[in-house]
Amino acid sequence: MPTVAAYAAPSATDPLIRTTIERRETGPRDVLIAIRYAGICHSDIHTVRGDWGPVTYPQVVGHEIAGEVVEVGSEVAGFAVGDRVGVGCMVNSCRECENCRAGMENYCLKGNTQTYASVDRDGTITQGGYSTHVVVDQDFVLRIPEALPYESVAPLLCAGITTYSPLAHWKVGPGSKVAVVGMGGLGHLAVKIAAAMGAEVTVLSQTLAKQEDGLRFGASRYFATSDDATFRTLANTFDLILNTVSAPLKLDSYLRMLRLDGTMVNVGAPPEPLPLRVFTLFGNRRTFAGSSIGSIGETQEMLEFCAAHGIVPETELIGVDGVNEAYERVLRSDVRYRFVIDIETLKD
Ligand code: NAP
Ligand code: ZN
Ligand code: ZN
Repeated sequence: MPTVAAYAAPSATDPLIRTTIERRETGPRDVLIAIRYAGICHSDIHTVRGDWGPVTYPQVVGHEIAGEVVEVGSEVAGFAVGDRVGVGCMVNSCRECENCRAGMENYCLKGNTQTYASVDRDGTITQGGYSTHVVVDQDFVLRIPEALPYESVAPLLCAGITTYSPLAHWKVGPGSKVAVVGMGGLGHLAVKIAAAMGAEVTVLSQTLAKQEDGLRFGASRYFATSDDATFRTLANTFDLILNTVSAPLKLDSYLRMLRLDGTMVNVGAPPEPLPLRVFTLFGNRRTFAGSSIGSIGETQEMLEFCAAHGIVPETELIGVDGVNEAYERVLRSDVRYRFVIDIETLKD
């Protein structure tokens, strides 16, 4: 089995460190990818710190992967050595359940195999993209359009699809009034994508510190949630509120900003249960919903959409030894707007 360099969490509390991991041999349906760039998603931090439950250590995270094909199995069709490809949050699914058959592997009823911290078919724990190489089944490999810059495309593979999928599902378009709560990795892409879909976009951020950026990304309005007046001013306003916040929010205050038949979609994933008064849902026949990443088909569609509309993540490129500090900055909401690891630095 090939041994490759990686950057792993040794425990829930220790800093991540350089190490090596084993990858499987490239099987007949597999693609071996040399990883060039890996985005840092807040989910990586939730996972390594055990926020969502116990984890087997050492654990390599990273599910926003951009790289190039260096080897293909004998049955692989459609990918060739040298192709620029991406991998997101999933590397397999059961392929048999109702949802998989409907092309929605992200909702696989048996639980899809996630790119990291998931039990793989051979019983091993999957290891993510903070490493030099990964072996992935061809059906879970994405094509990166030429128009998207290599060093900043990776965040589309999670942050991009996680926001594109609900915006598309709830049919956001010209005339839609959309609010994006939290302007971090997911949030800044939600603003760009919703604006490109033709919506009128409002950002709800903790402060006005990033207002100029929000307007530049395509929002027409920007409000601070630290100001109670925001919630009064915007009562009964939005068709869709996309909540990307990684911490618990007072849901009722946000739900009251939905107009008739409006929906609040939660993609932020705090571990705690969130209370909500059902009476808030009765008013304006409101809906509270969730959404999990997106299917492989939808991810490819999102990449083409971003290429066509010139949507590129705002990134800060770091060396692998900067990951621990980047984690601290993400936790302080001090990210503009996604850290991307230059995997070349793992070879030093
Ligand atoms: P991020 O870059 O840290 O962005 C989260 C933003 O939320 C921050 O930039 C901040 O925005 C706001 N925020 C943070 N703490 C807050 C608090 N205590 N109160 C109010 N606002 C706060 O994180 P991300 O990578 O975008 O991920 C966001 C969440 O989505 C995470 O929980 C992640 O696990 C989850 N996620 C879910 C899916 C899915 O499939 N559903 C996929 C990917 C990620 P402002 O500075 O603008 O206030
Ligand atoms: Zn993610
Ligand atoms: Zn399935």
